[in-house]
Amino acid sequence: MRLVFLGAPGVGKGTQAEMVSAQFGIPKISTGDLLRAGVAQQTALGLEAKQFMDRGDLVPDKVVIGLVEEKVGTPECGQGFILDGFPRTVPQADTLSGLLAGKGLSLDRVMHFVIPREEVINRLSGRRSCSKCPAVFHVEFVPPKQEDICDECGGALIQRSDDRKETVESRLTVYEAQTSPLIDYYRDKSLLVELDGSGSVEGVQERLLALLPS
Ligand code: AMP
Repeated sequence: MRLVFLGAPGVGKGTQAEMVSAQFGIPKISTGDLLRAGVAQQTALGLEAKQFMDRGDLVPDKVVIGLVEEKVGTPECGQGFILDGFPRTVPQADTLSGLLAGKGLSLDRVMHFVIPREEVINRLSGRRSCSKCPAVFHVEFVPPKQEDICDECGGALIQRSDDRKETVESRLTVYEAQTSPLIDYYRDKSLLVELDGSGSVEGVQERLLALLPS
């Protein structure tokens, strides 16, 4: 099962990708997570990416494409994968299809998570991410059992620097300009499946599972 999760920042793609990954035993490949790991480890790639991420801009295509190429070729992805936050531009999407075609593969579905803009802003500004593991919480909608402590690993919860209100607006503008053209791109290839991403995590999960290939 080779899937792309597409949608504005804050629609809940990452949370749902974690769940599908656990349930189907296929890896989630999140370019945002890979880039943040590079920033935390202060790799050359991380240092280059950080300046773009802090502004809410996209990291150059060649950087993220390299990250995905490395992952998609590993045996871990033999049964499929979920791409979360990639592709985000038409050149990234073209490269992905070329990469897969070169291996005799193709995407099965592109799940497009749709929610109103105000809900995106609420979700992002209340989001708290674990500093040690991929777990994500929300101060109001998915609070941790103990304030500022991760339920999964006990790590400290932090607000991502790009989840601050100032950066959220520019991330949404960048999404509209550079990523939303992928909606038509994948619709034209008959791969797009629209999913109502509003409401509870459980509700979205139920709708999502009903739309995945069996
Ligand atoms: P995310 O966690 O998916 O919201 O990504 C956080 C940030 O990482 C984005 O705002 C971009 O700066 C960068 N990023 C993640 N994925 C990509 C991508 N596919 N192309 C370019 N930049 C990306």
